[in-house]
Amino acid sequence: MTHSPRAVIRRRVAVIGAGAAGTLAAIFAATQGAETLLLERTADGGRKILISGGGRCNILPARVDERRFVTDSSPNSLRKMLRSWPLSEQIAFFERELGQPLVEEEESAKLFPASNRARDVRDGLLALAARRGARFVPSTWVTDLVPGDRGWRVLSARAEPLEVDAVVVATGGLSVPKTGSDGTGLAILQRLGHVVHPTYAALTPITDGAGVFASLAGVSLPVTVTARSDGRHATATGGFLFTHHGYSGPSVLDVSHVLTRAEGAARRAARLQVQWSALDESGWTAALRPAGTRTVGGVLRRELPERLADALLAGAGVAPATALAQLRREERARLIETLTRGELPWTGDEGYKKAEVTGGGLSLAEVDPRTLESRRLPGLHICGEALDAFGPIGGYNFLWAWATGRAAGLAAARQGTS
Ligand SMILES: Cc1cc2nc3c(=O)[nH]c(=O)nc-3n(C[C@H](O)[C@H](O)[C@H](O)COP(=O)(O)OP(=O)(O)OC[C@H]3O[C@@H](n4cnc5c(N)ncnc54)[C@H](O)[C@@H]3O)c2cc1C
Repeated sequence: MTHSPRAVIRRRVAVIGAGAAGTLAAIFAATQGAETLLLERTADGGRKILISGGGRCNILPARVDERRFVTDSSPNSLRKMLRSWPLSEQIAFFERELGQPLVEEEESAKLFPASNRARDVRDGLLALAARRGARFVPSTWVTDLVPGDRGWRVLSARAEPLEVDAVVVATGGLSVPKTGSDGTGLAILQRLGHVVHPTYAALTPITDGAGVFASLAGVSLPVTVTARSDGRHATATGGFLFTHHGYSGPSVLDVSHVLTRAEGAARRAARLQVQWSALDESGWTAALRPAGTRTVGGVLRRELPERLADALLAGAGVAPATALAQLRREERARLIETLTRGELPWTGDEGYKKAEVTGGGLSLAEVDPRTLESRRLPGLHICGEALDAFGPIGGYNFLWAWATGRAAGLAAARQGTS
């Protein structure tokens, strides 16, 4: 007796967006045996990976502090999603599967590929997706997703509609539009009845239209910055850079969301304050005690770049040549206030054009934290920056994209999750 071969029906998965999260989703969906299509709006995909980390791609942080993630959703859901793929396993994936040894930059605790080439990461991930059997479909702008009785119909601007069993939305947010992000993914999710939290630019430089410190453009130093507005506040310690338009550097980017989110009267009242060195109030009180013949300018220049020291002294109305013993009590108090809680005048921000990420997005309550499947519509999974979460500078945002992309891809490929 002969047996006719049984037809094996493979599950069909469409991943929308070939960025960090979507590429991981495609790799893991294909690895599970799903017929996987990776649909991408641009001609090549992964453009944020290419420009990340100044072209070096800060793939991951060397250590993770989960409290540094920002979300308006449940931090508990966020933690569950992050922990689905621990850092050590992510490192092993890049080193073993992608053949990219990672090297820690010790002063910043960031991990980079040993080649220091973001292109190796982008090309390596797309090549791995192809080796695992995913089909890359570039220059395809997905315009809508329509749920059917047994699956999904994917509509795109140019190609015929696609019928699939499951969809992974990995379309990112709105930042740096030239990388392909335009918010269509979030608009589609909203149209399908999901709660999408208002989006805002995050990790973006802050501007000062009045140019109060414009003459210091190019000066950089480590500081501690605090942004405060209407019940929100954030503090970050790290690099600070004066630009021609205002302020940048990791510390400013990390707190910028507090200012970009402030609106109306709250925006006018929102404040940016800086402690200009590791010395706090008691440290400066000791350094500026009224003794000896040293000048105030000399003391400040030991701790700070000279141009900044001079600008701060001018701002506090203290002559640099004043001897410490001659410094009046109110001058000392004013100077210490400037040095430890100095006000940085600001008028705006560089918005999505320069933002490294988009804050807000699909509420984490809308998905199952294990499968990232929509709680409203089966067979629809969401991952990466489209979700309402972002982390600080330092590899945290890729950590999020890799973890959620993998979880969404694995679950979308699994029969019966939908
Ligand atoms: C300048 C810069 C530097 C950065 N450096 C770092 C870093 O060093 N380390 C770090 O951890 N993070 C970094 N980030 C943040 C990080 O790049 C993002 O958090 C991450 O790329 C988000 O991944 P994603 O896949 O969710 O979205 P994206 O990478 O934005 O990918 C979304 C993809 O979907 C495609 N797409 C969108 N809509 C559609 C549609 N309707 N149809 C088809 N395709 C669509 C887009 O073209 C894009 O390819 C940086 C960001 C920027 C802008």
